[in-house]
Amino acid sequence: MTRILVVEDDTAITEGLRFTLDAAGFEVDVVQDGESALQAIRTTPPEVVILDLGLPGLDGLEVLKRLRQRGPSIAVLVLTARSMELDKVRALDLGADDYVTKPFGLAELMARIRALLRRPASQDPARAKIVFGEIEVDPRRYTAMRAGRPLELTAREFRLLEYLFHNRGLVLSREQILDNVWGRDCASGPRTVDVHLAKLRKKIERQPDDPKHLVTVRAAGYTFRV
Ligand code: CA
Repeated sequence: MTRILVVEDDTAITEGLRFTLDAAGFEVDVVQDGESALQAIRTTPPEVVILDLGLPGLDGLEVLKRLRQRGPSIAVLVLTARSMELDKVRALDLGADDYVTKPFGLAELMARIRALLRRPASQDPARAKIVFGEIEVDPRRYTAMRAGRPLELTAREFRLLEYLFHNRGLVLSREQILDNVWGRDCASGPRTVDVHLAKLRKKIERQPDDPKHLVTVRAAGYTFRV
């Protein structure tokens, strides 16, 4: 049975979620603060976490950051308030898989959960190491090295690198990268891809101005070379 952890302090919302998720056949746990969320994740790791960002004590972004230190295998759907645009962006940068803005409809939320569960990255526990040039990445442990030295990659950069590596040799458009790494419903534009790729390039390339791996294909997008 697929286990879902709901982290939200608003009982009106948790009641509705518990009822709906339960009726859909999920195993549902509900906690109301960040500390309890981390504890629940340690003791009975869920497949999906529905995480409110506005929590008492340890806030949602901090919970997300600590959860991602464990690795990318748990899918995270963030709940945000409409006025908190910046939090949404930060959550995605910290490795949230998707978000829903409050107030949301339960049907929409369920559709997003089903989409998360279909996504292979959130389910495959046996993702292989990625090795090219001087770079070695372990997507499960969220560790990356260049020539034996640790690289500081964000959760998004890990996912980006993983996607590029698995599609190495192909020319990928910005839209394709955005759809696959950020998700089809993502509010960001193709420019986001350029910004993240430039950052990733600085980290993994010896000469970011003359990249050997993350190569720009003029008027088309990017290609990844091993
Ligand atoms: Ca809240």
